[in-house]
Amino acid sequence: MKHNQAITFISIVIPVYNEQACLPELIHRTTATMSQLNKKYEIILIDDGSQDNSAELIEAASSAPHSHIVGIMLNRNYGQHNAIMAGFEHVRGDLIITLDADLQNPPEEIPKLIAKAEEGFDAVGTIRKNRQDSILRRFPSKIINHIVKRSTGVEMNDYGCMLRAYRHHVVQAMLACHERSTFIPILANGFARRTAEIEVAHHERIQGDSKYNFMALINLMFDLLTSMTTAPLRLLSLIGGGIASIGVLFGLGLFFLRFIYGSEWGVDGIFPLFSILFIFIGAQFIGLGLLGEYIGRIYSDVRARPRYYVQEILIGEASQQVREQNQTVIAIKQTP
Ligand code: UDP
Ligand code: MG
Repeated sequence: MKHNQAITFISIVIPVYNEQACLPELIHRTTATMSQLNKKYEIILIDDGSQDNSAELIEAASSAPHSHIVGIMLNRNYGQHNAIMAGFEHVRGDLIITLDADLQNPPEEIPKLIAKAEEGFDAVGTIRKNRQDSILRRFPSKIINHIVKRSTGVEMNDYGCMLRAYRHHVVQAMLACHERSTFIPILANGFARRTAEIEVAHHERIQGDSKYNFMALINLMFDLLTSMTTAPLRLLSLIGGGIASIGVLFGLGLFFLRFIYGSEWGVDGIFPLFSILFIFIGAQFIGLGLLGEYIGRIYSDVRARPRYYVQEILIGEASQQVREQNQTVIAIKQTP
């Protein structure tokens, strides 16, 4: 495997939504960092339907002489992850780095990511050193990280941090996924052969507010959960099974206790009614869970993710020759 493939061209992908206050500094610092590296690079800025001056700023930056900026203008707001996907469609680099526009993750950390990727990793994640967000923003993230770790099995400590690096083939594989709601770091993990994590600095937002309000955050959480697994649907069946078995046990218990202690023990038939109720509620949940199983399967078919992704095909010299000869034979056969 060509894991240690040299990285010569780097694409930096940055989604921008109403970030006019941060943009000039972002462009300046990112360009300064990249130009020191002695590698080819491009900075792809995706304007996610900003209502402020961000689009004009991107336009001006891309038309400046010797500019490394590529501007991609979306007609309206599609959300951070969709904007990044739009950027991915136009990347040319061997290594793609995603970054937030708000400078919470300093662009000066990019060389660290590149160095790590050059060690032979397909995806490099980051952990925020002394994270500078409010408790309200931090607590949900903590829960998410925990769930993700349990259900994907991939050890990643910080999914929220978007300063990440992916090799070109990982991005290519992500582009082959056509689902509407995605969570890029998790999607990428599914296609990377070797992943690593490094620590990066994290600052407070210098300008403007977080573009995620509470509802948007909940939305993001559901995106994340559903992009990973359909397990919650299966949970319904399990809950139903549990309730129904409690009902059955309760009923059996009542049946025997009634013979020992007499009929008043069952409160004249009210307790048995409870047990029947439990059984019925359980049955309903099981029914819902079954529906869920089908919906889950429909969901994964509708997403039409590629069943597998071939990263590389290695062909021996002899079989290469045979294959080429055979190709010509087929070609001759095809001509009428
Ligand atoms: N963003 C975007 N579209 C949106 C919301 C956010 O492109 O609908 C961009 C935003 O400009 C920033 C990044 O996504 O570059 C992260 O947003 P933010 O910093 O507000 O999120 P937080 O740091 O609170 O997670
Ligand atoms: Mg931010």
